[in-house]
Amino acid sequence: MKISVSKIPEGGMNLRFEKDWKWFQDFLSEADPSNFVLDRITAACTVRRMKETVFIEGSAATTVEAPCSRCLTMATLPVSSSFKYTFSPPPAQSQEEWELSAEDLDFAYYEEDTIDLDTLIFEQIILQIPVKPLCTETCKGLCPHCGINMNVAGCRCQTKSFDERLAALKQFKVQSEKQ
Ligand SMILES: [Zn+2]
Ligand SMILES: [Zn+2]
Repeated sequence: MKISVSKIPEGGMNLRFEKDWKWFQDFLSEADPSNFVLDRITAACTVRRMKETVFIEGSAATTVEAPCSRCLTMATLPVSSSFKYTFSPPPAQSQEEWELSAEDLDFAYYEEDTIDLDTLIFEQIILQIPVKPLCTETCKGLCPHCGINMNVAGCRCQTKSFDERLAALKQFKVQSEKQ
């Protein structure tokens, strides 16, 4: 959704919209496939204008489905983000100064009377996707020896490897006693 700055009414306006996974995917590069899927994305915001400066305040929410980084079962994680932006037309100054002020996260320039709300919402959502999703904070993960999901069942690998270490230690003792 693109906003024409000059068409923002005096008293501001409220926008509410929904986007789907397909819409989100179009923003992702094909070279970097995602390991997650998103449910419906809902966003709402208030747009206000003072002369040429535009203020956008709102929130976006969705649900991420991604394999847990420890146990690999699908995890469903609700995510949401609140944002506040100030947009202004680009200043008539040198390129260097432009780059400096554009570093401010909550501040951006718009060009040709247009603010692209889609890009803004996409950025808000992508920042909320966990790099290492977890099904629960206390997920025990998979056993590195037998691969069993330790949230569901236990295994004897831990005790076995302990016994092996103990056996090695005993052997070491016997050898050293011989000397
Ligand atoms: Zn897990
Ligand atoms: Zn095991």
